[in-house]
Amino acid sequence: MKVRRPAKKTVRREASPACAALPASEAWYRALFESSPDAIFILEASGFQAGRIVSANPAAAILHGYPLDELLRLRIQDLETPESAALAPDRLRQILDGRTLVFEVEHRRKDGATFPVEVTASPLQLDGQSYVLAIARDITERKQIRQALVEREQRLRAIFDLEPECVKLLDHEGRLLEMNPAGLAMIEAESIDQVRGQPVFLLVAPEWKPAFLQFHQRVFAGASTSLDFEIIGLKGTRRWMESHAVPLRDAVGKVTALVAVTRDVTARKQAEEENRKAHAAVAAINADLAETNRQLEESIQRANQMALAAEAASRAKSDFLATMSHEIRTPMNGVIGFTNLLADTALTVEQREHIEIIRSSGETLLTLINDILDFSKIEAGRMELERVPFDLRLAVQQALAVLKTRAAAKGIELRSQIDPAVPTVVISDTTRLRQVLLNLIGNGIKFTERGEVAVEVRRCPVRVSRDYSRSELNTELFRRQQAAVETIDLLFTVRDTGIGIPPDRLNRLFKPFSQVDTSTTRRFGGTGLGLIISKRLCELMGGGIHVESTPGFGSAFHFTIQAQVANTAALSTPVVATHAEQLPGSGRTQNVALSDRVPRCLRVLLVEDNRVNQALAGALLKKFECEIRLAEDGRKALEALRAEAFDLVLMDVCMPEMDGCEATRRVRAGECGVERQDIYITAMTANAMEGDREKCLDAGMDAYLSKPIDKSELAAVLERAALHQQTETRRRVNPSRPVSPRNESF
Ligand code: ADP
Repeated sequence: MKVRRPAKKTVRREASPACAALPASEAWYRALFESSPDAIFILEASGFQAGRIVSANPAAAILHGYPLDELLRLRIQDLETPESAALAPDRLRQILDGRTLVFEVEHRRKDGATFPVEVTASPLQLDGQSYVLAIARDITERKQIRQALVEREQRLRAIFDLEPECVKLLDHEGRLLEMNPAGLAMIEAESIDQVRGQPVFLLVAPEWKPAFLQFHQRVFAGASTSLDFEIIGLKGTRRWMESHAVPLRDAVGKVTALVAVTRDVTARKQAEEENRKAHAAVAAINADLAETNRQLEESIQRANQMALAAEAASRAKSDFLATMSHEIRTPMNGVIGFTNLLADTALTVEQREHIEIIRSSGETLLTLINDILDFSKIEAGRMELERVPFDLRLAVQQALAVLKTRAAAKGIELRSQIDPAVPTVVISDTTRLRQVLLNLIGNGIKFTERGEVAVEVRRCPVRVSRDYSRSELNTELFRRQQAAVETIDLLFTVRDTGIGIPPDRLNRLFKPFSQVDTSTTRRFGGTGLGLIISKRLCELMGGGIHVESTPGFGSAFHFTIQAQVANTAALSTPVVATHAEQLPGSGRTQNVALSDRVPRCLRVLLVEDNRVNQALAGALLKKFECEIRLAEDGRKALEALRAEAFDLVLMDVCMPEMDGCEATRRVRAGECGVERQDIYITAMTANAMEGDREKCLDAGMDAYLSKPIDKSELAAVLERAALHQQTETRRRVNPSRPVSPRNESF
């Protein structure tokens, strides 16, 4: 069979120039025909046999499952499904018209199984007859692949369409190729058609265009890149975008497009902005605070400086007062001392009256000085309390004893009532307690014309305290007391049957310089400082004070103090019996007439630089028949002590050359010999500021006498010196005997 293919009509199968060069022998064509993997049919083109298979290659037989000879008895329609077969006449007609058709159709194998084929059918002239050349290719696999691709694309499209972020594809020029619905919503486009092919650059906010351009270029250079930028949508809405883009490459690796996933981060950026503003606000507030702090620190510094200056001023004031006190007390010492001496001589009645006026004026002046000093010390916060064990009943008795004469002179009875529940020995500041008692009892006597002044002491409900200061607890004494310490409140009442105080004046009482009225002041005298000092002292001692009064019937001043109960069994240190005598070996204090037991003929070294004081102390000592040796300063005192034996040294504190404290330290250090080392030394000073007493005692002095020297206090000193001397002598003979108590204040 000779095959001739019309050049014009064989659109898809045109021979290549190489083919044209091949020898067109029948063997060649047959070989091509028979070895073709596609099914090749030559069909009747027309007539009642249109579609009959005139010729078919082996591939056609194999594909359709027929032996070749059987196949050649069939029509092409027999190999098709009925639906396709119905279209066959029309197709043949078209081919006869000279058209080449390419179509897909379902073919059926002999076993009935169908499969898709792609048919290329074209007219064929053979030996002047019209035929149809149909080449059928099994496209089962291709269709499956295509189907899979379609399904895959559908899946991807679904993902693309449902992706909540904007997914877009851009070309080299930045033109939009694809964008999913989420992206379209972000840029405010109605459909992809509205924006496809448009440069997205137009949507980028002006200030972000340069950055976006770079971002775009980087991706097309092959990098995966991210950028945060702002866009302005088609309807003008500004939005923050966070975009991650990767290059899309073709089969040879050339970047053909950019795929970007872009998220609307406007809310996050706004939150960040809010946050930034909040931080900035906080930073501003912090800066303000720092500035305020700095100003505060400056103010504190200034306040501290002022406080230091004030403290210095207060110290200067206190020092001034101490000096003044010393300067006033020294001549007062002379005035009162010599007045007392003068009073012991033979005088006319008139002279005695004058002397009495001088004496009482001097004492008033001294009281005034003491009050002012105390008040200024308290106000300056420099009043320090001491805590020593003392006999409370005795302290009350002694306060009463001091004022006994004054009360007796007015015919007023003095009495005391101390509840048995009140402990015998308590730890507190005996000096300050005595001061409060003296003031209140003194006032009671002053403002009472007849009747009595009574002191009552009771114990308030018990409480236990462990708030001792470290330094106290660290001392040997307090360590031993610790187990036995209990804090209690003591309530004192000083009651009188005097003039009383009008209710409207009660609130003025505890104020500085306040008196009920000036006429009573004139009548009764006083500074108006006693009650305020008492109030402050009570507060310092952990208590308070208040008054009840009925005009015409009397007043009752109640005050409390905190005290510790001392277990006397635990104490080896003696109980302080202020202004009292302690009997040798008795271990108890008793109130006795001093002059009866004052030793005579003691050898006294009087160390004093002031002529008036020398004369006064000398005159007083002579009254006790003492043998006096005078030294004008500490150095001379040491010389005298080295040279002679004494029973007592009366040591002034402020002296030229060497002061009394220094001289005492040297004596205690043994500079005047071991036998003089323990000599009884009593300080005499006009200083009354806090710490004077401690200074003297720390230097090693045994007792302390305040100027102007009181005769009875001097007598007590003499007696203690004599007692000390005896004990010392006994100790030297028998060293195991306890040493007599030291450190007494007068
Ligand atoms: P002074 O007694 O030195 O004037 P105080 O502060 O001790 O100062 O007393 C202030 C005033 O309180 C007294 O002047 C007096 O008017 C009144 N006062 C104090 N105690 C009594 C009392 N027991 N009876 C009546 N009035 C008193």
